[in-house]
Amino acid sequence: MSGSEKHLQGQSPDEQDYLRYFRSYSFISHQRSMLEDHKRTTAYYHAIVKNRRQFEGKVVLDVGTGSGILAMFAARAGARKVYAVEATSMAEHARKLVEVNQLQNIVTVIQGTMETVELPEKVDIIVSEWMGYLLLRETMLDSVLVARDRFLKPGGAMYPSHARLFWAPIKTEESALRKEDYDRVMEHWEWFLLDMKNLYNIDMDVLSQPYMVEQKQKYLGGGEWAEVHPDQLLSAPVASVSLDMHQITIDELKAGVSGEGIVALHSQQPIEAICGWFDVSFRGSPENPADNPIELDTAPDAQGATHWGQTVFMIQPPLQPQVQESVSIRYAVFRREDYARLLRVQLHTRLASSGLEHKQEFGVD
Ligand code: SAH
Repeated sequence: MSGSEKHLQGQSPDEQDYLRYFRSYSFISHQRSMLEDHKRTTAYYHAIVKNRRQFEGKVVLDVGTGSGILAMFAARAGARKVYAVEATSMAEHARKLVEVNQLQNIVTVIQGTMETVELPEKVDIIVSEWMGYLLLRETMLDSVLVARDRFLKPGGAMYPSHARLFWAPIKTEESALRKEDYDRVMEHWEWFLLDMKNLYNIDMDVLSQPYMVEQKQKYLGGGEWAEVHPDQLLSAPVASVSLDMHQITIDELKAGVSGEGIVALHSQQPIEAICGWFDVSFRGSPENPADNPIELDTAPDAQGATHWGQTVFMIQPPLQPQVQESVSIRYAVFRREDYARLLRVQLHTRLASSGLEHKQEFGVD
């Protein structure tokens, strides 16, 4: 437990999860920052209103309704009934928003967790915006799958229906900067050892190795939020298999999302980091496909990123490719044992012809 997590001491796991995860969603400012990510909100808007035929007369469940936005979109697209479930007190605001927008005859806001609420009927469609950084952080997808297994009618549709992860080698000045920070603290450590010896005659060198591990983790061991420009990409991305929201199980997610791919570099510049991002698509279910499939892509974009940005994993020292080199990227994303909403990401990057490689496990906090 870090110093900043002292307030969690003595709390039950549910209370800790509320403080670490749900509480932030009870602030209007947080909901606003998601709503004004217009690439995100417009993708959901189009997925719903451009598929009016799919929503007309249907019963819809919005998992984690927040401000109620997706529930209201579904009602406007002709849904007969929308259940809007929200764990936090934001549910009260959502209820008011539903009323002033005169959708209270269609939308029922229920405050509670998806795992515990009861609904009076099964639903035809589940909409949810559950994605965290690198798709899987927050592990909210579990709650959407619980909703599916509890309440979706056979043949019903999940919005979004599919998700993929992407990985690409990039150049980034941040990598060298993190390394400099790390070198600086390790240099300071040498002076610290001398001081402890000279002033108190205490030898602390036995801590050098664990301190190095600790500081390497701090400066080079975490996936970092970044807005990567497409010019930084050194190849096309390696894509994961498409996760099918109608099929995937929580047990499969618990086992981790992993895979491998090989891509040709279009530049000979050193690989300073691996950049991860995701997309989701709204295609409806096989039994009830969308008339107008919609994609929401969080790839590096010269027009500006979504609030998810991309997640960047530093490679130190950088890998220097030869001419016309290919790179293989093997990845595995696991939830963390100590707190399942955070991630552990294993990356193995290998240059095909020289065999130069970098293997590391990163945290995504
Ligand atoms: N649907 C809104 C909010 C998305 S953020 C929008 O698109 O703008 C995700 C929301 O889901 C948060 O408000 C969070 O509190 C809620 N949430 C997460 N897990 C939940 C669960 N298990 N049960 C109910 N609500 C949940």
